[in-house]
Amino acid sequence: MERRSILRRCISCREIFDRVSMLRITHEKKSGVFINTGIGRSAYICKTKNCTRDPKLKKNLQRALKTNFDNKFYEVFIIETQNYE
Ligand SMILES: [Zn+2]
Repeated sequence: MERRSILRRCISCREIFDRVSMLRITHEKKSGVFINTGIGRSAYICKTKNCTRDPKLKKNLQRALKTNFDNKFYEVFIIETQNYE
């Protein structure tokens, strides 16, 4: 069976990609914000240095997820995405 691709818009560059090739950031109401796991409101970012190092990304993410995450999450995010080109 052919797999239908599910398209999502990157919150940084606004381009549309197949979501399997993107980072998913999810805000779980009770437990916090996660990368590529969790159930809840999600935002997608393409796996490029450009988008993951966008100076406005943190603000965009917080707006998209309707939450304020702490610096701890952002530190994890920076480590998780450090090898992107
Ligand atoms: Zn992007």
